[in-house]
This record gives sequence, structure tokens and C-alpha cells, in this order.
Amino acid sequence: MKNVIFLAPPAAGKGTFSDYLVEKFNYKHFSTGSILRENAQKNEKLKQILESGELVEDEVIIPLIENVLKSLSKEDKFILDGFPRTLQQAKKLDIILSGLGVLDVVVVSIDVEKETLIDRVIGRKVCSKCYKSYNTNILEFKPKVMDRCDDCQSVLIKREDDNQKSFLVRYNTYLESTLPIIAYYKEKGCLQVIQNTELEQTKALEQLRSVIK
Ligand SMILES: [Zn+2]
Repeated sequence: MKNVIFLAPPAAGKGTFSDYLVEKFNYKHFSTGSILRENAQKNEKLKQILESGELVEDEVIIPLIENVLKSLSKEDKFILDGFPRTLQQAKKLDIILSGLGVLDVVVVSIDVEKETLIDRVIGRKVCSKCYKSYNTNILEFKPKVMDRCDDCQSVLIKREDDNQKSFLVRYNTYLESTLPIIAYYKEKGCLQVIQNTELEQTKALEQLRSVIK
């Protein structure tokens, strides 16, 4: 199995893909968001940066990524999710990985049409009590009763940033910073693109299985 770096716009299904690899093949999943939140608990300065919503600088995030990668044993396979975000970070990551002797890496770019992503984002809802997520625009994630949680019957609510306008901001930022990274990995020959549409989820997971081999 290869180590995996996911590149995907918001709502592309990175979470589903990661869960699949963790459950099926015992991958260690590292998302930048959770690494930062975890470290913020013991680092007051980082906590302040996160709370202010400011961008976390490379000098902060890169050593944290390096630490989690160093903590792995030779047998462990990792998923990086949310890193690298810039070409500069991608180049730094190469140096870290070759320093650690990690050579078997595949970069998986998850490709989903913009309209599909918008549909998914708009349809997202979460239980106000148990936080289970639903999606009114995806058949298999629809609640049984409209706007009610299947598990606890509490009312479903929308998250603040799940609207089209905020999605487009995140999407455009993603494209702007990620296209150069995609080109970089393509040139290096370690890029794999997977199409992830609603109707072909099983096919997408099959494809994922074949690219990590
Ligand atoms: Zn609930």
C-alpha cells in the first residue's frame, strides 16, 4: 500500500474516501484541521491564531506535519488531508518525506463537477442534538422524515457556512492554490485523478483501491 495525499475541493468526498482507507486498510489519517486543533490545546499562541481565523504560517504548520510523520513506524501508512495547500508546502513536504525515507506516495486528486459540489453543500444538514449529518440532495443520506434526525428525532439544522456563496469562496481559493500543486505532482508522475460522482461512488472506491496498490 502507498501513502496517500488527498487533493480535493470542499464536499468532494475526501472524508468518505479517508474513512474507507482507515477502516479497510488501517491507514493513519491526518487532517491539518485536527492536527492544528490538537496542538492548540497545549499551545496558547496557536490557539489565538486559530481563534482569530488568521492563516497559519508555514513555520508553524510544517514542523507539526513533520512531527506526526516522524511519529509513524515503518509499517504505518498515512493519509495527508489538507496539506500541502501551496506549491511551497508541497516542495517542503518532498524534502521531509525523502528525509524520512518515505518514497511510496500517491497523490489522489478527487474530481467532482462544480454543480454537483454546490448541490451537496446546499443539501447538507446536521442534527441539532447528536450532530449526525444528512444530505437532502443525496438519496442515501436523506433523513427518513423531513428535517428530523433518524436516530434521535431532533430537528436538523444547516451549518452557517454551508451556502452557495461561502462555498464558492472556498472553492475558488482551493482552485487557485491547488492547480499549481496538481501540475507539480503530475510532472513528478505521482498524480492520480479519481472522478467521484453520486452514481458511481462504488466505482470511485474501486479506483481508489487500485491506485494505492
Ligand atoms: Zn440526532
